[in-house]
Amino acid sequence: LRCVKLTTKECSKKTKTDDQENVSVDAPSPAQDNGEKGEFHKLADAKVFLSDCLACDNCVTVEEGAQLSQQSTKDFFHILNLNKKCDTSKHQVLVVSVCPQSLPYFAAKFNLSVIDASRRLCGFLKSLGVHYVFDTTIAADFSILESQKEFVRRYHQHSEERRALPMLTSACPGWVRYAERVLGSPLTPHLCTAKSPQQVMGSLVKDYFARQQNLPPEKIFHVVVAPCYDKKLEALRDGVSTGLNGARGTDCVLTSGEVAQIMEQSDLSVKDSAVDTLFGDLKEVAVWRHDGVSSDGHLAHVFRHAAKELFGEHVEEITYRALRNKDFHEVTLEKNGEVLLRFAAAYGFRNIQNMVLKLKKGKFPYHFVEVLACPRGCLNGRGQAQTEDGHADRALLRQMEGIYADIPIRPPESSAHVQELYQEWLEGTESPKVQEVLHRTYQSSEPCTDSLDIKW
Ligand code: SF4
Repeated sequence: LRCVKLTTKECSKKTKTDDQENVSVDAPSPAQDNGEKGEFHKLADAKVFLSDCLACDNCVTVEEGAQLSQQSTKDFFHILNLNKKCDTSKHQVLVVSVCPQSLPYFAAKFNLSVIDASRRLCGFLKSLGVHYVFDTTIAADFSILESQKEFVRRYHQHSEERRALPMLTSACPGWVRYAERVLGSPLTPHLCTAKSPQQVMGSLVKDYFARQQNLPPEKIFHVVVAPCYDKKLEALRDGVSTGLNGARGTDCVLTSGEVAQIMEQSDLSVKDSAVDTLFGDLKEVAVWRHDGVSSDGHLAHVFRHAAKELFGEHVEEITYRALRNKDFHEVTLEKNGEVLLRFAAAYGFRNIQNMVLKLKKGKFPYHFVEVLACPRGCLNGRGQAQTEDGHADRALLRQMEGIYADIPIRPPESSAHVQELYQEWLEGTESPKVQEVLHRTYQSSEPCTDSLDIKW
């Protein structure tokens, strides 16, 4: 389905790549003048589909478009080059955080195990001049733990506040932008207020880590490597934060495809290196993930927590039942024939639209929904799983799903570092600082009724 409002030329997701040839000569250029198109340019030439466009806003303002154009390898190399110049006043500490859903892409692309892919990526980035490479799994830990608490609170409030449930996840920027801009105030009260992993990582790097290093936040340039373009908009729209001295949490987002293109055109015979942690010289020895099918795992973790907290039930294995299609799953907790909890995973905009229509009619039976804009979830993000003609690369996706499924799971509650950070950084698990740093509010506009009638 093609978005009728857009042409390839008008879409901001195209124009933001235009400047790649201008990358400074001091650094390896991602775009060579040999006439051959790199993967990212090929992606950029692909057709624009409706699911791509919902988050790009048909047309960001001129100012936003200009800022989005900086969310590119050009900006990244600009900082690398400044750091090589004599004027140290312009130097910045360059930090790159990698999403766990990007790692299977690099593993598949370079035919490596996921641990080797992580070490190769880290070693490569360090060879370019990046100072620290982090994994965003720790940020997802916070996002999940806060979502768990919020669900239990909303469940108790539900009898007085009708819109407390269903609670809809807020980790996917494509979905959140659509909810805020198109669906508006009837829906936004259902959105979980826990920040997304990328937003939490911005605070961890620019606040916690900056303090550890005795650096003002503006002296750090924070890049996130992510599976989709929507996270670029998320970084931009988050704006500057008062808690960070007016700095942004994330300065630049590069898609996995953009980074792979730089790697393909560079010398890869660099020394592999273990990923850093936020805790001094300590390195990440393993790669972990959360218990989700191609996602950060909000559904599975919130479900287990709610079953235990609300009903005293210990859930070991989560059983997903596919309903109308493979992107709509249901998970229930039942006792003596009664359904105590009914959760769903709705991926892709067809399922999102069905969910919204049922919500509007008051016929939506779920307590919680994990909502993701991409069919099949984050591994299928448009920044990493496309064929040259702009369609989903099913073979690559299957390969990435296999790799992701083999990564060991670590529940967020079991991370000693997270518990330490709650105490040291956030002044406790229920403090005002937790609310300020780990939660957000939503723009509450009137719904755009025309858009609800879009034919999908
Ligand atoms: S579902 Fe797609 S758009 Fe949403 S965060 Fe994941 S990759 Fe990005």
